[in-house]
Amino acid sequence: MKDDNFLTENNARHLWHPMGAPADSHSTPPKIIKGAEGVNITDIDGHATVDAVGGLWCVNLGYSNDVVKEAIAKQLYDLPYYSAFAGTSNPPAIEASYAVREFFAEDGMSRVFFTSGGSDSVETALRLSRQYHRLRGEPTRTKFISLKKGYHGTHFGGASVNGNNRFRINYEPLLPGCFHLPSPYPYRNPFNESDPAQLAQNIAAAFEDEIAFQDPKTIAAFIMEPIQGAGGVIVPDASFMKLMREICDRHGILLISDEVITGFGRTGDWSGARHWGVQPDMMTTAKGITSGYFPVGACMVGDKVADVFENDQTGEAAIYHGYTYSAHPVGSAAVIATLAETTRLDLKTNAAARGTQLFEGVQKLAEKYDIIGDVRGGHGLMTGIELVSDKAAKTPMDMATMKKIHEATYQAGSMVRLGAHNVLMSPPLTISEGEVNTILSALDTGFAAA
Ligand code: PMP
Repeated sequence: MKDDNFLTENNARHLWHPMGAPADSHSTPPKIIKGAEGVNITDIDGHATVDAVGGLWCVNLGYSNDVVKEAIAKQLYDLPYYSAFAGTSNPPAIEASYAVREFFAEDGMSRVFFTSGGSDSVETALRLSRQYHRLRGEPTRTKFISLKKGYHGTHFGGASVNGNNRFRINYEPLLPGCFHLPSPYPYRNPFNESDPAQLAQNIAAAFEDEIAFQDPKTIAAFIMEPIQGAGGVIVPDASFMKLMREICDRHGILLISDEVITGFGRTGDWSGARHWGVQPDMMTTAKGITSGYFPVGACMVGDKVADVFENDQTGEAAIYHGYTYSAHPVGSAAVIATLAETTRLDLKTNAAARGTQLFEGVQKLAEKYDIIGDVRGGHGLMTGIELVSDKAAKTPMDMATMKKIHEATYQAGSMVRLGAHNVLMSPPLTISEGEVNTILSALDTGFAAA
């Protein structure tokens, strides 16, 4: 490996980072992570921390799962690549589709379309939903409705249904025909409604109103995360997704559950929708599907949609969509091994227990620090802390202070992630009680530094 000076200098010179300004690499060099073990990561200075980010909400198995690593290595020797475009397939892809389908059968999913990641999966779901309506003889159903604060990746379709404007404004105009409802976010919402159940009712009414205004016959799908992740870990009322499901059904609108973060155990169950007693029409996943070890995503489809494609009489059911790396044999081998390990280790049960510990620990910190405006989580290992400079006025904390907290927390032993004025946490689902305590004590030091 090149020396530290080479790495730092050339990072700033040549490597552009997602979600950052290129010039920032000069003024604020990134932490260069060179190794990892268990749930710990080590930077080039040799500083080790508990990774409360889980890579990027994805390293569910931690960094040391040899079963997955060996499966990937073996597949590289057996068959490193072959296309899965119509006309060819490969054994790991077939086995992986079977494994994914088994995982989400309880959610009503029966078919799997593999992609290279979450944004691809969202794009796939949006396209398939338009094609579904065309095949059914309703080609006017082309519009999409989604939630503010939602994150659905960065392709033009996903960005268009995205509900955080910093992912949108520099890239406009986006896809026409995309409309947004308020987020089920009791701490801040346009209704000034702090009761989550009443807020759910208000958003349901706004959904009905928007559908009537647009004309139901023009709407293809509604997409939401069961728990909004990147928007700040926003947990809706238990009634919310069910209300959305009922409205979608009444108006012939497909419900897409974006489970890129929430799938595969992160929330304390295998899917997010399952917490809310909802079966979506399609689900999008990525991240935990390979624990981040290989870039894979999947769009899953339930029988209602599958039947229309598979019993098509129009001759238009060919899916002219897909990626060179869809159903990649090495990625598929990673999926098979990851899902077997995810089940064997019963990651959802540990996620639920350690998630409660983390959530309650952060709630205790909120009693100590006035800068903590809102603590969100309580469903597995997804925790958000919203920081404010004035608690009564709910003034968002400034970025300079956020960065100071981030650095102090890192130095004290834990990597956390900032999303605007939120601290976001999604550690590996293999994390132990002691390691959660390390995160909590590092956060305590971080908040004290504000
Ligand atoms: N949907 C959701 C809910 C996500 O959280 C993400 C990524 N964080 C995406 C889609 C996009 O996934 P990717 O970054 O793999 O393209």
